[in-house]
Amino acid sequence: MVVKPRVREYMCLTAHPEGCKENVRKQIEYVTGKGMMKDGPKKVLVIGASTGYGLASRITAAFGCGADTLGIMFERPSNGRKTATAGWYNTAAFETFASQNGYYAKSLNGDAFSKEMKEKAIQVIKEDLGKVDMVIYSLAAPRRTMEDGTTYSSVLKTTGETFTNKSLDLRTNKLSEKTVETATEEEVEATVKVMGGEDWNDWIHALVEADAIEDHAVTIAYSYIGPELTYPIYYGGTIGQAKQHLYKTADVITEEMKAKDIKGFVSVNKALVTQSSAAIPIVPLYISIMYKVMKEMGNHEGCIEQIYRMFHERLLEDPTIVDAQGLIRVDDYELSEEVQDRIKESWETVNEDNLEELADIDGYWDDFYQMFGFRIDGVDYEEDLDVVVPIPSIEE
Ligand code: NAD
Repeated sequence: MVVKPRVREYMCLTAHPEGCKENVRKQIEYVTGKGMMKDGPKKVLVIGASTGYGLASRITAAFGCGADTLGIMFERPSNGRKTATAGWYNTAAFETFASQNGYYAKSLNGDAFSKEMKEKAIQVIKEDLGKVDMVIYSLAAPRRTMEDGTTYSSVLKTTGETFTNKSLDLRTNKLSEKTVETATEEEVEATVKVMGGEDWNDWIHALVEADAIEDHAVTIAYSYIGPELTYPIYYGGTIGQAKQHLYKTADVITEEMKAKDIKGFVSVNKALVTQSSAAIPIVPLYISIMYKVMKEMGNHEGCIEQIYRMFHERLLEDPTIVDAQGLIRVDDYELSEEVQDRIKESWETVNEDNLEELADIDGYWDDFYQMFGFRIDGVDYEEDLDVVVPIPSIEE
């Protein structure tokens, strides 16, 4: 099949196997170019390992620390008529590169929220790795189904008044206005259920009970805070409430696992185009203005640069470098005064006529297409290729 992008607003319905492979290869090349880190983890479980920050974490753990990795994801293989999802192709590529370099890598595809997936992961850890010494929790999910069948759906709404601001219409690349509605109490609770720390804590408890996690292990979940500009929709919104719960969970894990000296951390990362962030209203315009400013200032980073820096300059320092609230921060460049002052200025003056000048719309879309394996140098997009790509460790 000759694979072309089929974009629907903030989703691309197709993914290019060779492009995804090249994407993974480039991230590996970045990490190996930096050299091996000392005292890194050796056996790592990554929950949400196939795209975005989780994939970058898996690559950093394996190729930057020499770690064996078990990755959990929720992706769709190809049936021969439709392509697989990008995360499927990324994982197939990752496993292939890992084994070529002598690193153990297995992956499990299914619902990380479920008890069965926790049991399966523990079984693989016990059989193959013994115990893990690091757990990365990088899930970004729209819903969570509980053991009793109840399903909670996360929403992206404010928790105060409705919020109206400029936005980028992703269908037309034109400026528009978006109003974000106020969530009900149930919606806030549901978002906390999905994106808060409860399931993260369940994973750690399950691993401890099964004796599948080392003493002195660390576990890290990811968050975003952002500038005041996006507070109503992010920090002060439903997702922000869920992230508050995540911060508390990090402390709960550290406290409850004191005897084993297992520590919970949250790393606050930069806003980037990923499959999850593209779906948040107002954020794509903020991201494209931020990309413009940070690229001009020479401090723009993608997922792999962020996570490599998080490992190398924060987590593996002794003791781990955290802020006054106990959070690891790699959103420091984004939130620096110089960057934010320039973003604010652009945000206030941006209009239809100067949009291309003040916002990196092309950069936004390049990142978007690249997530699905398109617009990547060196890939032949006219090639008729087999879209059924097996993941070595997954039997179908
Ligand atoms: P992403 O959409 O790229 O990745 C989500 C991962 O979760 C994928 O591997 C997917 O397969 C997996 N997944 C989703 N539902 C699952 C389920 N039910 N079972 C198993 N796996 C499942 O997302 P991302 O942007 O990399 O986000 C990861 C984390 O980083 C989130 O906590 C997010 O809030 C945080 N973060 C994101 C940004 C950003 O701008 N993108 C910034 C800072 C922090």
